[in-house]
Amino acid sequence: MRAVRARQVFDGERFIGAADIVIDGPTVVAVGPPSDHASAPLDDFGDATVLPGLIDAHQHLAWDCSVDPLAWHREHDDVALLECARANARRALEAGITTVRDLGSRGRVMLDLRDECAQDLTAGPTLIVSGPPLTTPGGHCHFLGAECATVEDLLAEVARQAAAGVDVIKIMATGGQVTPGSSPGDTQFGAEELKAVVVAARAVGLPVAAHAHGRGGVAAAVEARVDSIEHCSFMTDEGIDQDAELVAVVAASGITVSITAGIAPGPADPIVAARLPALVAHVRGLRDAGARCIMSTDAGISPTKPHDCLVYAVSQAVHLLGMPVEGALATCTSLAADALGIERQAGRVRPGLPADLLVVDGLVETDLDAIRRPVLVLRGGVDVGGHG
Ligand SMILES: [Zn+2]
Repeated sequence: MRAVRARQVFDGERFIGAADIVIDGPTVVAVGPPSDHASAPLDDFGDATVLPGLIDAHQHLAWDCSVDPLAWHREHDDVALLECARANARRALEAGITTVRDLGSRGRVMLDLRDECAQDLTAGPTLIVSGPPLTTPGGHCHFLGAECATVEDLLAEVARQAAAGVDVIKIMATGGQVTPGSSPGDTQFGAEELKAVVVAARAVGLPVAAHAHGRGGVAAAVEARVDSIEHCSFMTDEGIDQDAELVAVVAASGITVSITAGIAPGPADPIVAARLPALVAHVRGLRDAGARCIMSTDAGISPTKPHDCLVYAVSQAVHLLGMPVEGALATCTSLAADALGIERQAGRVRPGLPADLLVVDGLVETDLDAIRRPVLVLRGGVDVGGHG
């Protein structure tokens, strides 16, 4: 048994004030006002905030954050990718990101890392992993190895990945920026193809995450009732294709929209920088319409996307999107857990849940940068990071 005390606790939904969190082995057993704990040694962190371990619902741990992901994959074998993924997993964990959903790597790399992190809590976050994203021949991220020309190919790939043990099926409904020759505005798969994948995946108990930028792909993903729409940016080669009608359709669907957020300091991607105002207006529109939004990062895909960049998403959501602090924190804790179906494993500071906790120096409520000052990270009750 041990107890952790801080002046402020964010429980995944709201700030509850000063509290003690009592931990027994891997599990939180009590959360309440500061008091005596006869049998539990107390760590009092003072002017600190305790949060649930953060959840990043969209990363690429085996990607190296370089400007040329295609070259990275061409020039390195799976052993090198796994080595890179191990270091990135540690970086995420040390920042307090205790759960990562990885949405696209090559071969078995992420399955292997998931198993390593399940064995050794200090190796990285709890991982939820897809296989290589299903894409068209030569399409977005084709270099990861799951090119599908026909519905039969798609179904065969779903079956293959399910047998390999993936946790989620990722499909590229549209093109994307990082693949030469691919454009985010291009629709790669229509509603019928996506539906076939959704039915096949559900039959084997797997959710489907659809990467969709352009409107055609977003509309198809809604029609196919995928479990999450990744990005949902309405981006084309020209800019952001505003469409209030489709925004309303996305919101009414109740499908999780995994907004790509969190940019670390560094030379900005000129395309993203130029489009940021329109993108911000679009995301505000999604939220105002009532879309079920969570924040994730796409970490790994470029130099300003290191695997701990989720910690920048919170202040950016508050400052750019005008979100309340509690709401911004909820998008990468409780709401992310709900969206991923792991609400009994992560996302809240609550008795009965695993002790995945992030303790930071300062009061996040009034000092957003405090979230970047971890003093203790616990995963399943084990000290795995922070500097305290
Ligand atoms: Zn991605």
